[in-house]
Amino acid sequence: MAGTFGNPEVVQEEVDILIIGGGMAACGAAYEIMPWIGAAKEAGVDITVKLVDKAAMDRSGAVAQGLSAINTYIGPNQDPADYARMVSNDLMGITRDDLAYDLGRNVDDSVHLFEEWGLPIWKTVNGERFDGATWPKEGGKLLKDGGDPVRSGKWQIMINGESYKWIVAEAAKKALGSDNIQERVFIVKLVNDANDKNRVAGAVGFSTREDKVYVYKFKACLLVAGGCVNIFRPRSVGEGQGRAWYPVWNAGSTYTMAAEAGAELTMMENRFVPARFKDGYGPVGAWFLLFKAQATNAYGEVYMTKNKELLNDYPPYGQAAVPASCLRNHLMLKEMKEGRGPIYMDTVTALAKLRETLSPREVKHLEAEAWEDFLDMCIGQCGIWVGENIEPEKKNSELMPTEPYLLGSHSGCCGIWASGPDDVGAPTTEEHPDAALIPAHLPQGWNWGYRSMTTVRGLFTAGDGVGASGHKFSSGSHTEGRMCAQSMVKFVMDNKDWVPTLDTSVEALVEEIYRPVRTFLEHKDYTTAIDVNPHYITPRMLQFRLQKIMDEYVAGVATYYTTNGHMLAVAEEKLGMLKEDAMKMRAKDLHELLRAWENYHRILTAEAHMKHIQFRKESRYPGFYYRMDYNLVDEENWHCFVNSVYDKETKTWTVFKRAHKDLVDKSK
Ligand code: FAD
Repeated sequence: MAGTFGNPEVVQEEVDILIIGGGMAACGAAYEIMPWIGAAKEAGVDITVKLVDKAAMDRSGAVAQGLSAINTYIGPNQDPADYARMVSNDLMGITRDDLAYDLGRNVDDSVHLFEEWGLPIWKTVNGERFDGATWPKEGGKLLKDGGDPVRSGKWQIMINGESYKWIVAEAAKKALGSDNIQERVFIVKLVNDANDKNRVAGAVGFSTREDKVYVYKFKACLLVAGGCVNIFRPRSVGEGQGRAWYPVWNAGSTYTMAAEAGAELTMMENRFVPARFKDGYGPVGAWFLLFKAQATNAYGEVYMTKNKELLNDYPPYGQAAVPASCLRNHLMLKEMKEGRGPIYMDTVTALAKLRETLSPREVKHLEAEAWEDFLDMCIGQCGIWVGENIEPEKKNSELMPTEPYLLGSHSGCCGIWASGPDDVGAPTTEEHPDAALIPAHLPQGWNWGYRSMTTVRGLFTAGDGVGASGHKFSSGSHTEGRMCAQSMVKFVMDNKDWVPTLDTSVEALVEEIYRPVRTFLEHKDYTTAIDVNPHYITPRMLQFRLQKIMDEYVAGVATYYTTNGHMLAVAEEKLGMLKEDAMKMRAKDLHELLRAWENYHRILTAEAHMKHIQFRKESRYPGFYYRMDYNLVDEENWHCFVNSVYDKETKTWTVFKRAHKDLVDKSK
């Protein structure tokens, strides 16, 4: 029976595997899973699968606008161990080598597939460069049939990637079949098994287009709903609001749903604060790496040279050939704080230098590439350049460190503690002196059977979901999704007779999800102005409150990314009250219902971030955040993972240390 706004239709479905999300990791899983399901069938086990995405897969997730580079391609002449070293150094030494190494040795296969599916990858053949526009029609495949990819950095290769997500999604859809895909369904929460608290049995969500609630039961689930944006007050205000660097539709669903299901989180204190072109958040990679531009203060001084000495405060991370990303911000922030801003990307000098060695035609081509870099992945920046009369050869552009984002796949490493590969010497028992603090029900070590399974049985993650690794980017997230496909099928085969039983009734779940709608319908006539009502708060207003708390107390842009124990204590109290008030959010339509639940996911993710920063008594990421009461990197006491588990009954966090171990020799 069709539902109404106040009384939604309830659709119940049972599948073996549910994929939550339709981004890069989900597409990887969707592409990979069918052959494994085929193999299971041959072994006598029938497995069903479904993918649900809150948006439309063709343009959902962080790659929605497209990209101009694939940031992780190892290539035939590089060593995955070197890649693991880079990941570790960039993330100040606290990453899981097992995850990074495993990714490094597998990621290229996904890139080869992208090319096979039609993604134009730039290459050089006999000294001549070809890109998507100039590639000879008779073609051939770049990476497979010879030629070298055009690298913009040691691990990055250039693409014409405006349609990157379309291409990857098309392959995923074709592989999975449209009957197994449901778009525009927002998953609100996972449901634990009634007989095993530490296992997932289902998930519940709602349609963003129709009055329908979906209740799924499953044996295994891949939770890949991206990272978290908009928990901090953004720099964009007014008409610019909604613009951020990472996508605003990444709302912390991955971290919150996993935490509420009991999964152990890791490194939630980590954040990414990229320095980007101001106001448009346009990418800087091509300018730094391809055009060799430099960033300066307002007086034309190159702060990376001028403030180089500061890097020595953070050995060995500051002294690497490429210092950790946060430290590069650290050097920039000194200029800003001491009043020598704005910071500029010196595009004028970079292009002039290129003119000294290149022909006018070649320079023109390069300039077109600079524009294309924006057009491929951040069209808004073109709007800013056009609107502000910026011709990069004549006028430099401002750079600005953004508001903080939480993610595990780009240059960040927050996320969920996941099982690693079983063949790279990862610890299998906990060796840390504080090991006694780790709750007894959690697995020991770094591998517990199924690659990428979280500490909750049946719950897998990839991409932004997997913590303590990072630098996987688009290709790596796809690869991790593919790894999950294989291990989920194995898990289901090993549990083929297990029957999921939800620990909450369907009625209670529906009631909870539609609470913001009911609150609205019950109280809407109390006042004449729909947005002003003592019985409810609009999702928009609640989001402002969250962002203000995080910005002012948890090291947002308002305090130049600084905080201390006292400020965190205030944040803790205010977030507690916000969590209570979140129960009073209203939804006047389905769009607001989406906004309400996104906000809820953001709040819990924000709380995890705050709790971890509070626990870690040092400033591990100078330039991304500073605890001014512990303004140092303390290798002796804090060269360890900080992990946590959330108790959804008591609504409290347990935070603890896990031992760190280098598996790759970092002295090389
Ligand atoms: P996503 O791809 O973000 O997918 C998340 C999915 O979950 C989406 O489909 C979303 O709709 C869905 N979802 C979210 N919440 C829910 C919910 N509650 N219920 C159901 N579905 C939900 N990578 C590179 O390789 N090179 C680059 O140059 C590069 N530059 C980047 C620049 C920018 C501006 C951005 C934003 C990203 C960039 N990346 C780059 C990184 C890359 O995009 C990510 O690493 C990758 O997309 C992460 O994959 P994911 O599957 O974890 O998340």
